[in-house]
Amino acid sequence: MNYSFRKKNKIVKYIVIHYTGMKSLKDAYFRLNDINSEVSVHYLISRKGIIYNLLCPRLKAWHAGESKWKDHININDYSIGIELENKGHEHGYENFSKKQYQSINNLIKFLTFNFHIQNNDIIFHSDISPNRKKDPGEKFHLNKLNFNRFGYPNNKRNYSIIKLLCIYGFNKNYIKRFKKQCILSVKRTLNYKRINPHISKKFYFDFCNLLFK
Ligand SMILES: [Zn+2]
Repeated sequence: MNYSFRKKNKIVKYIVIHYTGMKSLKDAYFRLNDINSEVSVHYLISRKGIIYNLLCPRLKAWHAGESKWKDHININDYSIGIELENKGHEHGYENFSKKQYQSINNLIKFLTFNFHIQNNDIIFHSDISPNRKKDPGEKFHLNKLNFNRFGYPNNKRNYSIIKLLCIYGFNKNYIKRFKKQCILSVKRTLNYKRINPHISKKFYFDFCNLLFK
């Protein structure tokens, strides 16, 4: 099992949701426990809804890789990782199961309570590494979680796309370098079936509705 010790000045602030992207649960389980894989995660949730606690969340797991979110870099330092069993875009992307939503809701409730994590700080791998990652992807439905990640109070509706990407939480450097990929990531969060970088009126409208009350 790979892990590091958390530094005292880097407290847990985020929960990062992933999919395993492997052909079977067994493959994912072994990879996440294999010291040679150079990856690890705190929790793995099977399609049957079984929660495997692979690493104590007080330790740092290696799930995020190169990543940025808001003003933070290397999100492993600040986060707890949850992997959902799913073959992923490369091996036959499937809908997440009802039991997975039930289990992740229970787990998030437990973690947010114990680590004082805010709803807006429950984020996706595709948010923090938009240039490299698609998970958990467009088949993961935010509205099946028992919390509201966005819903900021706001009456103004004439923000630029860049401003909306900032409010969503993307790191400013990533918005500059990977604007297209950030747009793709938002489309996945919006559960769009066709993921392309085109900014239509509908997308702008959906994006505002996602962020604001
Ligand atoms: Zn991931």
